[in-house]
Amino acid sequence: MEDGRSADVVVVGAGFAGLAAAHELAGAGARVAVAEARDRVGGRVLTRLLPDGTQLDLGGQWVGPSQHEMRELIARYRVPTYPTPEHGRAVVDYEGTLVDALPPEAMALRGELDRLSREVPADAPWTHPRARSWDGTTLASWLAGRTGDPAVARAVGRQTAGGLLSLDAADASLLETLFYLAGGGGLDVLVGFAGGAQAERLVGGPQELAIRMAAALPAGTIRLGAPVRRIEHGPGGAVVHAGGLRLEAAHVIVAIPPVLAGRIEYDPPLPPQRDGLTQRMASGYALKTHAVYQEPFWRARGLSGISFSSAGVLTETVDNTPPGGPSAVLTSFAYGADAHLLRARTPRDRRRAVLDRLGELFGDEARDPVAYVEFDWCAEPWTRGCFSGHLAPGGWTGFGPALRAPAGVLHWAGTETATRWNGYFDGAVQSGRRAAAEILTGAPDGAGGHVPPLPDRSDPGRSGGGPGGSP
Ligand SMILES: Cc1cc2nc3c(=O)[nH]c(=O)nc-3n(C[C@H](O)[C@H](O)[C@H](O)COP(=O)(O)OP(=O)(O)OC[C@H]3O[C@@H](n4cnc5c(N)ncnc54)[C@H](O)[C@@H]3O)c2cc1C
Repeated sequence: MEDGRSADVVVVGAGFAGLAAAHELAGAGARVAVAEARDRVGGRVLTRLLPDGTQLDLGGQWVGPSQHEMRELIARYRVPTYPTPEHGRAVVDYEGTLVDALPPEAMALRGELDRLSREVPADAPWTHPRARSWDGTTLASWLAGRTGDPAVARAVGRQTAGGLLSLDAADASLLETLFYLAGGGGLDVLVGFAGGAQAERLVGGPQELAIRMAAALPAGTIRLGAPVRRIEHGPGGAVVHAGGLRLEAAHVIVAIPPVLAGRIEYDPPLPPQRDGLTQRMASGYALKTHAVYQEPFWRARGLSGISFSSAGVLTETVDNTPPGGPSAVLTSFAYGADAHLLRARTPRDRRRAVLDRLGELFGDEARDPVAYVEFDWCAEPWTRGCFSGHLAPGGWTGFGPALRAPAGVLHWAGTETATRWNGYFDGAVQSGRRAAAEILTGAPDGAGGHVPPLPDRSDPGRSGGGPGGSP
């Protein structure tokens, strides 16, 4: 690997955000180097094939019809998709009783959240007239103030803060919850299967799309095994230290989860508001597990494999059987404190707890799968959370403006910076494209100034120099 090679832009991270940014820049003629810590591209997507060929998506997996950035990429790279199976009834366990649907009071609260979310400007939630109040209120306390029935509050809290943000309702601000609902088009779309965010999966998994995107970049663009630990920056450009590499560039796009962006050493240090933001944007805490069976036995009982529980160790399950199998898969999700407690158990106890719960929901066959697979994204050094990062209560109003504002020549991408489908693949792609556009067309620098656009490649004065600005 060429040491000291200069690029116009260094992109940190080869998840969907970093790959999308690299494509926009390379397509505009800029020279791009992508520094990726792992030995693979894709970030929070990872597809594993069982010995019989059954596809398990250990990270992100679904795309929905209104996720236009992803749909465009899926079409461009010709990755086939298939509908999420929905044969039969969903199971709703409400406080230990199997019911057809959540009680009307819970549905009314969901409706109220949806209505409020439509008021929130997803590109600047801190500007809403009630932003301070909503940012200082947790979803749990808001729900408790709306209903005298703790079971109703628990159910709505688990479905929204849990199922969407992978947080407990006591850890999610009302403003963050409303922002998230706004970006995805409302609760029904976010929790929905056909027509919603869980409508389809990709043949080969979303990792296949990431691999095809990486392969379409100019040879040598992506440097795998290159963890960025230090960035020196100034008006004249930046020096990125990535493993043994020293990469000089005019601009840098940091396209990694904010919690990890905050662990990079910056010289000079980041503006306080930006640093404060990364301190307040911890990741959610979900645990996703897969139980594999010879047959989708639940379908014979008229069940879809989809479940929601208002109490118990698992909040949600889905039928993750690929079309044509060969094996059947029930995938489970635990969130927040439930996921913490599961992680604290031994692997054997954790497996038992998950399978026993599946047995209660779907019948005794669920207790004895032919395989059980779990993957802990919170333990991954280059992710450290699941599904995505969220601003803690008070975070939007105190630090929100620093989410996307460049710090000089440093630009911020990653799904956590998206204004649509924040937390999803689609948001990651949007964020990468937006950060690339900042560089190509110029942008405010976050300190009252303006970062000029990347000079044309044919410009003889373009060569730039070190961080201090000397050519
Ligand atoms: C279990 C799970 C299920 C999910 N389900 C869905 C779903 O069904 N649908 C959906 O749309 N979304 C889903 N998501 C969310 C989705 O995966 C993410 O929103 C998206 O992949 C984020 O892309 P990104 O590029 O912003 O970040 P990442 O994918 O995290 O990419 C960041 C990249 O940067 C690298 N990196 C980190 N630090 C450094 C460093 N210091 N130096 C160099 N490289 C670094 C990482 O290795 C990684 O490759 C899920 C996520 C998880 C974990």
